[in-house]
Amino acid sequence: MKFDNRYKLFLCHNFKTIYFNIMSNDNKSIHEFDLNLICDYFSNLERQGPGSPEVTIKALSFIDNLTDKSQISDIGCGSGGQTMVLAQHTTGTIQGLDLFPTFIDLFNLNAAKLNLQERVKGIIGSMDDLPFHQEELDLIWSEGAIYNIGFERGLTEWREFLKTGGYIAVSEASWFTDSRPVDLNEFWMDAYPEIDTIPNKVGQMQKAGYIPVASFILPENCWLEHFYYPQDRVQVDFLKKHAGKENVKEFIANQRHETQLYYKYKAFYGYVFYIGKKY
Ligand code: SAH
Repeated sequence: MKFDNRYKLFLCHNFKTIYFNIMSNDNKSIHEFDLNLICDYFSNLERQGPGSPEVTIKALSFIDNLTDKSQISDIGCGSGGQTMVLAQHTTGTIQGLDLFPTFIDLFNLNAAKLNLQERVKGIIGSMDDLPFHQEELDLIWSEGAIYNIGFERGLTEWREFLKTGGYIAVSEASWFTDSRPVDLNEFWMDAYPEIDTIPNKVGQMQKAGYIPVASFILPENCWLEHFYYPQDRVQVDFLKKHAGKENVKEFIANQRHETQLYYKYKAFYGYVFYIGKKY
């Protein structure tokens, strides 16, 4: 795997911070090991971010005019947990795009298992260099992934690939209140300083050239049942498999810290779905 700046961008917010630390070390083999390792960790999970089938279907309910001719892209699709739900509730063609080949291999296996391979395809690519034509897409989907490019930048740059009247639906970490505990604020300023309040995010969506059609908070079960609980099981196996490796211990400790923060402070932040229509 070739390493360049793009690989700083990865997966969970917490890991992004760890990876920045790793990047400051010049030993490339450490980078490679860690990246494969973390890909391996997340490959054992059905989803790589918070969400649920119910929430995917709810977000989809705000989008009209989709037909079997519709061209849809799911950006930062991971192994495709949410893409398969999207596919089962739409009839058009879906391209899932992710930076990591491991996820795309799993994505295509998942599509084949559900017999969706004719209209659901995973491709390797980067969200800052999308392989689409101008005004090609009817719908851009992205769950728990736009933070890798940044919410405002993603909305602005991806807009050119949407047809006029096309939709964008993204989920994004957001503050629920105007003020919050200092340690929570510090964690997020380090991990993802673009986190902001819901009205500010809606304003950014409007400014980027979309009509803000809807926004709603993802319920807690998207974090707990669909994201953190499955990780509890994977973490135990992972620590066993890599017994004695300090970087594995550090990685799991960071994942657990992120989980604890969520339990403690879930009244102050979470993921929010934002749905917009290009005009
Ligand atoms: N949408 C999935 C995955 C979310 S995790 C879900 O909700 O389960 C974020 C995803 O973004 C990961 O799969 C990661 O590999 C991908 N990613 C990170 N940087 C990227 C980039 N520059 N281009 C495309 N995908 C990227």
